[in-house]
Amino acid sequence: EGCATVIDGKAVAKKIREEVSAEVARMKEAIGVVPGLAVILVGDRTESATYVRNKKKACGHVGINSFEVHLPADSTEEEVLNSISGFNTDPNVHGILVQLPLPPHMNEQNVLNAVSIEKDVDGFHPLNIGRLAMRNREPLFVPCTPKGCIELLHRYRVDIKGKRAVVIGRSNIVGMPAALLLQREDATVSIVHSRTSNPEEITRQADIIIAAVGQANMVRANWIKPGAVVIDVGINRVEDEESPRGYKLVGDVCYEEACKVASAITPVPGGVGPMTIAMLLSNTLASAKRIHNFH
Ligand code: NDP
Repeated sequence: EGCATVIDGKAVAKKIREEVSAEVARMKEAIGVVPGLAVILVGDRTESATYVRNKKKACGHVGINSFEVHLPADSTEEEVLNSISGFNTDPNVHGILVQLPLPPHMNEQNVLNAVSIEKDVDGFHPLNIGRLAMRNREPLFVPCTPKGCIELLHRYRVDIKGKRAVVIGRSNIVGMPAALLLQREDATVSIVHSRTSNPEEITRQADIIIAAVGQANMVRANWIKPGAVVIDVGINRVEDEESPRGYKLVGDVCYEEACKVASAITPVPGGVGPMTIAMLLSNTLASAKRIHNFH
């Protein structure tokens, strides 16, 4: 029985953070500029607060300045827009991210539209997404999680050109941009979603599968072509009596089965997760370099 190569996202992310850290230091030394990331958090969802804390901590480790605005859940949309416009014009800020989801009374589209495309390090501004979708256009930023998936494929020398890829999930933040990125890399891409009939038949044709669904262990052995490369974006809690927390994290792919069929696979945790923040740091550095014309 074969066993898949484990794609070590944690190790790759560490390497990228070291690369970013060295570049941040070189930039500071050369022109005295320190890249800065501004995070806007609205409300007090525990998960969002944790993400924001981790992003700020990661900035600190590589020498990127971080700024945070934390607004109460009952803030007005206008207050959020005001924070964004302050950061848009702040020369110490090179990247702005609005932690999603926003409270239901706010219009996400208005808010994301307000972020300067020059500082849109999450890549969620419709102009950046639109450019990602168009031929011969270059987005200034690409969303971090899908970018991290492609970076893993590159660093593990997985051929994308001419291959069949299937993305499971079509969300604005993961599935859709992942499919666009694979297409830009000359894969032939299919997207599977909740209305797809016989999803396993489609995914079984894929040389590369990116799963971003939010359903624990949905992708089973019979969904996977022998030798396929599997990137598992899912982060799902399942009950686990042996864990002191009472739960453990699993992906959208049934790892125990998939690792016997796939040629390479990302684990959960330790696969795509750490790459997302590494890409955010990398995007923030790239933004500061572009704004200051530093190479
Ligand atoms: P969303 O809930 O926004 O989107 C889920 C997508 O999966 C939708 O397109 C939905 O289809 C599709 N889907 C749901 N159920 C099925 C099904 N049974 N069969 C086929 N398709 C289905 O989730 P996100 O894209 O935001 O996140 C996906 C997963 O990735 C989550 O587990 C999340 O925690 C994780 N994640 C991990 C990150 C990381 O850093 N590693 C970052 C972001 C997310 P439809 O469009 O038809 O509703």
